[in-house]
Amino acid sequence: MSDCLFCKIAAGEIPSKKLYEDDKILAFYDISPIAPVHFLVIPKEHIQSVDMVNEENSAVIAYIFQKIGEIAKEAGLTNGYRVISNCGADAGQTVPHIHFHVLGGKELNWQV
Ligand code: 5GP
Ligand code: ZN
Repeated sequence: MSDCLFCKIAAGEIPSKKLYEDDKILAFYDISPIAPVHFLVIPKEHIQSVDMVNEENSAVIAYIFQKIGEIAKEAGLTNGYRVISNCGADAGQTVPHIHFHVLGGKELNWQV
């Protein structure tokens, strides 16, 4: 998608503080962190949200979850972390390219 912020970050057209990258996925630090450690994991291919995951594109989502633990350790999250994906308006999704927030570095509370 030519007009998608995270597609541009994935393509290296917009700089990001990268934590992990391979041919399928990218992990980079969130620009406005809400926890001591806050990074995002995205597929390089454009998928709009959790709502748009299907039989054709789900392999890369599984791959993200296969890698998250390793990336979290790399980021220093050795005492646990939270994974969140905001999907659509009510969840407050602001970037319409699926992404998984990984939060940690302190004991997190639980409220919505
Ligand atoms: P959402 O609100 O869609 O779940 O999450 C989007 C996240 O992307 C937000 O936490 C926001 O801070 C982050 N973000 C927005 N623009 C940029 C950017 O240009 N670079 C980085 N690294 N993060 C961004
Ligand atoms: Zn995109």
